[in-house]
Amino acid sequence: MPKSPKYVFILGSVISGLGKGIVTSALGKLLQVREQNLVLAKIDPYLNIDAGTMNPIEHGEVFVTDDGGELDVDFGHYERFLGIPMTKRQNITTGQIYYSVIQKERKGEFLGKTVQVVPHITNEIILRLKELEATFSPDVMLIEVGGTIGDIESQPFMEAIRQMKRDLPRENILTILLTYVPFPPHISEHKTKPTQHSVSTLRSLGLSPDVIVCRSEISVDKKTRDKIAFFCDVPDYAVYDLPDLNSVFEVPRFLSDQSLDDFVANRLNLDLPPPHWEEIEDLVSKINATHKKLTIGIPGKYTDLIDSYISVNEALQHAALQYGWEVELKHLATEEFEEDENSVRVLDEVDGILVPGGFGDRGTEGKILAIKYARENGIPLLGICLGFQLAIVEFARHVLNLENANSTEMNENTPHPVIWLQEEQKHISDKGGTMRLGSYPIELIEDTLIHQLYSTSSINERHRHRYEMNSSYFDKFKNSSLKLTGFYNKLVESMEIEGHPYFVGTQFHPEFKSTPWNPSPPYTGLIKAAIKQNEKNREEKYV
Ligand code: GLN
Repeated sequence: MPKSPKYVFILGSVISGLGKGIVTSALGKLLQVREQNLVLAKIDPYLNIDAGTMNPIEHGEVFVTDDGGELDVDFGHYERFLGIPMTKRQNITTGQIYYSVIQKERKGEFLGKTVQVVPHITNEIILRLKELEATFSPDVMLIEVGGTIGDIESQPFMEAIRQMKRDLPRENILTILLTYVPFPPHISEHKTKPTQHSVSTLRSLGLSPDVIVCRSEISVDKKTRDKIAFFCDVPDYAVYDLPDLNSVFEVPRFLSDQSLDDFVANRLNLDLPPPHWEEIEDLVSKINATHKKLTIGIPGKYTDLIDSYISVNEALQHAALQYGWEVELKHLATEEFEEDENSVRVLDEVDGILVPGGFGDRGTEGKILAIKYARENGIPLLGICLGFQLAIVEFARHVLNLENANSTEMNENTPHPVIWLQEEQKHISDKGGTMRLGSYPIELIEDTLIHQLYSTSSINERHRHRYEMNSSYFDKFKNSSLKLTGFYNKLVESMEIEGHPYFVGTQFHPEFKSTPWNPSPPYTGLIKAAIKQNEKNREEKYV
């Protein structure tokens, strides 16, 4: 008999940016350390089909999955916490739901009917969740609902949850509300009114929370939590405290110490074995024991939002942590390098450089200046995707003397298109979901640094790009110090410069598969070289 799945919905109230993705991941970890099979899903109530067409400044990084999904930034948290690869079907957006219902309507599947939000849209939402359930047969489905309670956009989803709550046995469905409990400094006490208002809005949608998790800068005391319980109609023991912690990996244990896992188990009738905390505890103590700081410079465009490079930042931290270091990021506005070439000397102050991915030509000449400076001055550098492509451009221009070499993305009329559009991309005009996306196998050339870092010839990494290295230039690079080190058929996947402390570029995005327990090899290589650079920089200061 198929087991009955348990549905846990995680909703957010009062404000966005509370870390719902982290809490969902932590809740997943809490259940994973107690041997539960999980499927995570995220509902994003926007009309885009996926996050691929959104600006990372507005929405944070686009997270790429093995199956080529361009998903919401929270999927990165899920994978990093849980080590389970996610798939594109797990990110459900309003756009997908309406698209599918409208296609069905055109096919005549609702012939004779008026197609409406209730029941057609809500049925489609429930169907998508049931499909995930059928595909994975998990013990527990954790479903994060994006946005905050009361948003117009999320109402069909709330209605779908209400219907599921009505139809499923009580022990098969649970709603958790993550709320913000402000602590205005001039009053010096926590205020519960915003939470009360959110819960009453939720009630007007026919739902009420089973569990409330209180986010605040500082601990929300028992008296305040009891007040929330009283006004929001949940038991006292179902209101949990979640202040800012030193690291997000402390969240699972912090919630478990308040017995959230036991509460969920009782309420959902789950038989949970005792937790295995070793992995998490080991990680948390490593994080807390880390005091040495490395500076990694990021010449980039999206300097104003840390979320736009979150997987890159995390992968740097994972790599550094294994050596007991922490990374401090220094964002470098490349447009300033373009205005004043000498300003690139700020790179003397960093221990390593990470040139991230990107699109369009703004700031690229500045990035090329940074790459040149790193190459000539032995500063460790890792270039990812666009970073890899610009490293090829820089070398072509300044070492191979191919004047005005460029990527055709930046200059269509360059005399030396060392980077150009992939053949398959030439006839594509739609922008959504049409890049080379997801995981591809890569063959690494032996006796190269990258091969040594991965300790194998065959790897799989994720991609998100339209342009590639132009194979008609291979010969020009052949006898130079720039080695092409990884391939997918004839497509170049990685390069390195011989004789440099660390100068590596990858067309793929290794950061998407990095976890604190499994740091990504190219990032590990950068960090190892940056630690050496840091020691050298410090010695130089003292002579
Ligand atoms: N814009 C480049 C391309 O499309 C690089 C993409 C990226 O950095 N993700 O190929």
